Amino acid sequence: MKKKEKAVVVFSGGQDSTTCLFWAKERFEEVVAVTFDYNQRHKLEIECAKNIANQLGVKHHILDMSLLNQLAPNALTRDDIQVKDGENGSLPSTFVPGRNLLFMSFAGVLASQVGAKHIVTGVCETDFSGYPDCRDIFVKSLNVTLNLSMDQDFVIHTPLMWLDKCETWKLADELDAFDFVRENTLTCYNGIIADGCGECPACKLRKHGLEEYLKIRK
Ligand code: ZN
Repeated sequence: MKKKEKAVVVFSGGQDSTTCLFWAKERFEEVVAVTFDYNQRHKLEIECAKNIANQLGVKHHILDMSLLNQLAPNALTRDDIQVKDGENGSLPSTFVPGRNLLFMSFAGVLASQVGAKHIVTGVCETDFSGYPDCRDIFVKSLNVTLNLSMDQDFVIHTPLMWLDKCETWKLADELDAFDFVRENTLTCYNGIIADGCGECPACKLRKHGLEEYLKIRK
């Protein structure tokens, strides 16, 4: 049974947030997606998000967050910074301080504007690459802060928080979205849709999860 309530999904066009979009569509009467444009290396990411929102018949807001790149140039926005995993406990070169804090706060403002009680985000601690503002404790803390700041009763949902990539594929499958997610989403840092380049850290993680899941898929 769908709740007669509205949800805002933080949506990048990648595997995780697209799975969250399907998850939200199953639960809530009305779903809107919000994508943040912060001069990602690949404008294709925005196009990809648009295309998916369109196909799913979801209203799509694209917010200009270019100030984020002004504040903190990083490997996702600049060609001259290499995408690297964090070594010896350091954060990866894709880390932008406060990115999720800002995105979630703006999603909260949008939710307030469009009258949505629910905010859905695909952040996850399991494949945690060390982003402090993707941790469960942070999301819970922000939920309280957003509610206090706007005198609202928002509920932030994180359906992927404790899932690994294999389990995220399984969830997509349970939502009848396995093929859609596999074929239409963009996770690859090199901007290649679907199964991607296979070499970058994001592709390796996605591919590993997919292979694990295909082994157990019925
Ligand atoms: Zn890749």
